[in-house]
Amino acid sequence: SRVLLDVKDLRVSFDTYAGEVQAVRGVSFYVNKGEALAIVGESGCGKSVTAQSTMQLIPMPPGRIKDGSVMFNGKDLTKLTDRQMESVRGSEISMIFQDPMTSLNPTMKVGKQIMEGLIKHQRMSKSEAKKKAIEMLDVVGIPNPDKRVEQYPHEFSGGMRQRAMIAIALACNPKLLIADEPTTALDVTIQAQILDLMKGLQRDFDTSIILITHDLGVVADMAQRVVVMYAGKVIESGTLDEIFYDGQHPYTWGLLNSVPRLDTNAKEKLIPIEGTPPDLFSPPKGCPFAARCDYAMPICREEMPEETFLTEDHFVKCWLQHEMAPNIENPTKIKR
Ligand code: SF4
Ligand code: MG
Repeated sequence: SRVLLDVKDLRVSFDTYAGEVQAVRGVSFYVNKGEALAIVGESGCGKSVTAQSTMQLIPMPPGRIKDGSVMFNGKDLTKLTDRQMESVRGSEISMIFQDPMTSLNPTMKVGKQIMEGLIKHQRMSKSEAKKKAIEMLDVVGIPNPDKRVEQYPHEFSGGMRQRAMIAIALACNPKLLIADEPTTALDVTIQAQILDLMKGLQRDFDTSIILITHDLGVVADMAQRVVVMYAGKVIESGTLDEIFYDGQHPYTWGLLNSVPRLDTNAKEKLIPIEGTPPDLFSPPKGCPFAARCDYAMPICREEMPEETFLTEDHFVKCWLQHEMAPNIENPTKIKR
């Protein structure tokens, strides 16, 4: 099968003193082999929690995966023991984060951090692992890798740390790389370099990528398919072209109008989405976007819309798809 990862009906909650926060509310998506899938949405929409839960990492603050299955390469990750899962995380699925300092160990040489996984999961000898570590630093574009391998993270610049983290993540040649806002903290030039690096690795090693971002410019540059999340739910999904040129959800339109994109000239006026997402202590029973939506109808506040499939890949959850709904023209300015 072409599908590498198949997440079905994932539900994740945080238990707080004030009650249960339903951060992820029945999320399903899949990733094909060798494909880059972007999960997009504003901060707090549940995209990072979805990614962490996919790897069976308990998100902070104390969260729990309430329901759902995560089929990866034929096995359900939710059914693995901690130990089995740890070995999957080290060798088959890797994750990189926005801030490398949260995942790099400041007290350990960068080279040693690359070597750890190789020794543990690939049973390499120390000298083999060191050779591979130098090779990986070279692959991710770090100059003088045989010198750098002996240095500590604080001796690296921000962009170099991000590269080092990618080297660690890719050393064991994982089938899936999950990148959570990998370039958000970097300046535009370095950002473009890191994205190019990831694209090259995807092509050369056939790695599948889940890219988590709020930046649609990054998405356009990198992903083949897109999942749009809002208030813990997937509200639209499709190929890159289907979302960019034929997006159907008013929230997707809002994202497209509010984020600077690489494919248009920068002078175009950006329109922020007014309002804030709903409180996930008590999510609304209808469409979660209703309070912010210019097109909301009475039914929208009463009932959550079902999926409407427009193509095999493209679906949207919005009452505007109903045959009785008014015809609204796509208000985004991006035209084919
Ligand atoms: Fe707007 Fe209604 Fe569609 Fe929700 S279902 S996005 S409120 S039109
Ligand atoms: Mg996040």
